[in-house]
Amino acid sequence: MAIDFSLTQEQEALRALAHEFAEREIKPRAAELDRISDPAAIFPWDIYEKGNRLGFNKTLIPPEYGGLGLGELETCLVVEELSWADAGIGSTYFVHAMQLLTMQDAATDDQKERWFRAICEDPEERFFVSLPATEHGVAGNLQPRDLRGSAVNSGPIRPEEWATHRTVPPAEQREFTTVAVEDGDDYVINGTKRFITTGGRSKLLLTWARKGQESTDYSAMGQFLIPADALGVSYGHVEDKMGQRLMQNAEVIFDNVRVPKRDEMLELGKTPAVRGGDAEVAAVFTGIARRAYEEALAYSRIRYKGGAKIIFHQAVQTMICDMAIKVLTARLLMLRAAWQNDQRAGYTAHNNMAKIYCSDVAVDVTSKGMQVFGGYGYMRDFPMEKLYRDARLGPIYHATNEMMMVGQLVRWLASLDTIY
Ligand SMILES: Cc1cc2nc3c(=O)[nH]c(=O)nc-3n(C[C@H](O)[C@H](O)[C@H](O)COP(=O)(O)OP(=O)(O)OC[C@H]3O[C@@H](n4cnc5c(N)ncnc54)[C@H](O)[C@@H]3O)c2cc1C
Repeated sequence: MAIDFSLTQEQEALRALAHEFAEREIKPRAAELDRISDPAAIFPWDIYEKGNRLGFNKTLIPPEYGGLGLGELETCLVVEELSWADAGIGSTYFVHAMQLLTMQDAATDDQKERWFRAICEDPEERFFVSLPATEHGVAGNLQPRDLRGSAVNSGPIRPEEWATHRTVPPAEQREFTTVAVEDGDDYVINGTKRFITTGGRSKLLLTWARKGQESTDYSAMGQFLIPADALGVSYGHVEDKMGQRLMQNAEVIFDNVRVPKRDEMLELGKTPAVRGGDAEVAAVFTGIARRAYEEALAYSRIRYKGGAKIIFHQAVQTMICDMAIKVLTARLLMLRAAWQNDQRAGYTAHNNMAKIYCSDVAVDVTSKGMQVFGGYGYMRDFPMEKLYRDARLGPIYHATNEMMMVGQLVRWLASLDTIY
């Protein structure tokens, strides 16, 4: 029997633990927390601390450092369940997990010893790792060629630019402005990062910076492990977001921050198999979509209109069926990507596909769910409008779905004659 879609007993127990936690600790409070108007006052530390005590921020850390030593598949099961109750909380764990994956691949033994252990032994149980990569002019996930465009322009697009596909932003926006300059045994880092998940809440910043003033090439990007309270690190604007408000996103500012050279990780592009967290982000949106499906189904069984419960109306039936098909397909693709990563199959297109598909499905399914609820779907007293707002982030963050397609996915597709 080569294909087995069942979870092991341990995986099912972990999934059930995460679901019970989500149901008990997150679901009853998520809507109320979501309505707090000040985005800097929302982050529910008590929920996160309890989750971390259960090991949710340590699934990927090997046991020798005190972690659970689990894989991406198990991490995705946890993230899906948490996101089922609140996607902001799910996203906080997805972004943290993504950094642990990068550290597994690119950190030295000494760095792992210090930082993995610090996460596992944190007495406050408040240890999250952020990724300060994105800047105003550059999203962290751009592909090399995007940083090396030759034509500099502003104003209307000239016809020849369409022909050569070399429309690029002005130079000052094209490059990472955060720079790491060597100074003795240290790097000195200056720059400002935008939109950073858990910015101002995390304890470690896995920071991307250009090495040297002159270098513009992607391969000259360094990754640095910087304590969040290091001298010169400060936090600016906290973003007031449409959805996923239970995670915090803030500006991270580096002002002459000294980083010992031993805290530089393997350079980007030289890392053997940096894994991207795509399966984990796909799990966030699978969780939202599943919740929307369950809410719509439950509502359709009790709402009485046109002489019958609306589940008996064919128009509603087609929406329920369409939602179910998409949720199940999304979950299969997400688990396939996670499983494949755990086999260390290398970074494959299944990751891109899972992120793109699950995030699009979440937008579609929450929109259909709102339709099933009719006017009540649009009202804040009912769950669907929050689910829709939370879902809408998916195609935008991590990397936009368009960037993923044109940056990576199409290259893989073009190298094959068929899909599998
Ligand atoms: C809630 C949230 C959390 C985030 N968390 C983090 C974080 O923790 N760390 C971090 O570093 N970043 C983070 N980001 C940043 C995120 O990765 C970027 O916002 C995202 O990659 C898009 O970049 P941008 O906002 O600059 O959009 P732009 O790059 O300005 O995109 C604008 C439009 O142009 C399209 N486009 C841009 N480039 C291309 C291309 N090469 N090919 C095709 N289409 C293209 C896009 O698809 C989009 O439609 C977060 C963003 C949000 C909204």
